[in-house]
Amino acid sequence: MKEIYRACKKCKRITTEKICPIHGDEKTTTEWMGFIYIVETKVSSISERAGTEMPGMYAIKVRQ
Ligand SMILES: [Zn+2]
Repeated sequence: MKEIYRACKKCKRITTEKICPIHGDEKTTTEWMGFIYIVETKVSSISERAGTEMPGMYAIKVRQ
C-alpha cells in the first residue's frame, strides 16, 4: 500500500494523516516541498520557526 505524505499547514510536520497529530483539527496538505529531519530540537532554529519542539520530519515549504 502506497502512503501519501502530507504536511501540516501550521507546524509543517510530515504525516500520513489528513489531520495533524499535534494540532488535532489542523488540516494537512499534499502541497509541500522538501523536508528536514529534526533530531536535536534544542539547536534547531527551524524547529523554533515551526513552533514545535518535537523531533521528526518537517516540510520546508508548505503551500497555505
Ligand atoms: Zn500541526
